[in-house]
Amino acid sequence: MQKITDNVYVETGNRGCNTGFVVTCEGVVAIDTPMVPEVAKKWAAEMAKYGPVRYVINGEAHPDHIAGNCYLGGTLVAHEGTRDVILSSNINEFKQMFKGMAPGSTPLDTDFKFRPPDITLSERLTLYLGKHTFRLIALPGHSPYQVTVYVPEERVVFTSDNVVTSMPFFRQALPDEWIKSLRYIQKLDFNKVIPGHGEVQDKSYIAQMIKNIETWIGAVAEAIRKGMTLEEAQKNVTMVREFPDLTRNLPMPGLIPMNVARLYEYLKNKA
Ligand SMILES: [Zn+2]
Repeated sequence: MQKITDNVYVETGNRGCNTGFVVTCEGVVAIDTPMVPEVAKKWAAEMAKYGPVRYVINGEAHPDHIAGNCYLGGTLVAHEGTRDVILSSNINEFKQMFKGMAPGSTPLDTDFKFRPPDITLSERLTLYLGKHTFRLIALPGHSPYQVTVYVPEERVVFTSDNVVTSMPFFRQALPDEWIKSLRYIQKLDFNKVIPGHGEVQDKSYIAQMIKNIETWIGAVAEAIRKGMTLEEAQKNVTMVREFPDLTRNLPMPGLIPMNVARLYEYLKNKA
């Protein structure tokens, strides 16, 4: 765990997503939850050293961000779409998926359950706690239900996977909105961004993230312009030249052809 400002702590070394918390004089606010139960329980114990957990916020609905919800307590806040996703999740399917996502971890046991949010938002929600403000802003991109958490007093934003230092993942993405959302984030007044995966970055990284998304859209648009079928595009768009480092360290196998498929479908429908 690293302390990145006076009151913000972040863990970037876990399997699954980055998790963070903000310490206020009236308790702790957590952003995203550890996927592995033993890690989530330790995280809850760590936060308890700084005060009671008052709110937990899910920045998106993907399992690596929400699976630890049941271990953290507090009032859970997320996009209303995240609530729908959690309520319709199949626990047995997730138990299977978990084995692949966290090999070597203790399997999910009987104390695991999907925990849906207690409070939802569809556009904006502001929490005031102690001397801190938490501006929750629905900013679709990586998924339709992304919520960015902006804490002006600490000059930080938590973006979940709208910002990552690894290869961006498009399977449920809204590509044009993603760029718009990143431009919106750029206008906020902050120093540090806590990405969904990878090390904490300075504000300037948002410009790099926009470039990464644009590069992806451009590559698949070019394949469509050349008349490629989806299968041909999946063979040709490898991104090895554009992202030599990121293609060497993919967060999951098959990510590149999945990205191509989503962008191909999206750009075809748009045309
Ligand atoms: Zn995600």
